[in-house]
Amino acid sequence: MGARSIDDPDSIWVVVDKQRPLDPQDYSPADLVDVPVAHTWDPLLRREAADAVVRMFDAAREEAGLELASNSAYRSYDTQVGVYNGDVSDFGQEHADANTARPGNSEHQTGLAVDIGAASGDCSLDVCFAATDEGQWLAENAWRFGFLLRYPADKVAVTGFAFEPWHYRYVGEDLTAELHATGVTTLEEFFGLAHAPDYP
Ligand SMILES: [Zn+2]
Repeated sequence: MGARSIDDPDSIWVVVDKQRPLDPQDYSPADLVDVPVAHTWDPLLRREAADAVVRMFDAAREEAGLELASNSAYRSYDTQVGVYNGDVSDFGQEHADANTARPGNSEHQTGLAVDIGAASGDCSLDVCFAATDEGQWLAENAWRFGFLLRYPADKVAVTGFAFEPWHYRYVGEDLTAELHATGVTTLEEFFGLAHAPDYP
């Protein structure tokens, strides 16, 4: 497996968390494309991740008869300002920081993260998605397409975020095969990085 940068925002291995903001903070990817799948919000992702989402959604349909949809994909720095500030004003800063990244610290800004749901909308962006057929199929199969369930239930102290059974991060099949084989479930642990429960 050839190593890639975990610091360069253009690298598909870039690690972004509460301890590791994007550099530059207002980074935007140069190769965003429309993702031609069912969706609520119009999804944009970097080309390689978009192609992988299409392959994964096709496989869910062909192998298991499941229809998936994208609920959120690329979000710009400015969009994240709105999302984060909205959560702070609705729920307070502590709740917002447990559930929504600050601008510059969101994986969605990399163009490599996607929030996936059932096309039916059942349990959309809710923890109960983990128990649905769609959520279980993704948990078992996403690695085959280069996607990692980024915020596992038992790793809140490592990732800094509550369990999100819908949030998948594209890192490429080489890395997810390695993660699958070793049983390591977070990028922080795999790369030996500081755990990121809080902002500095
Ligand atoms: Zn997400």
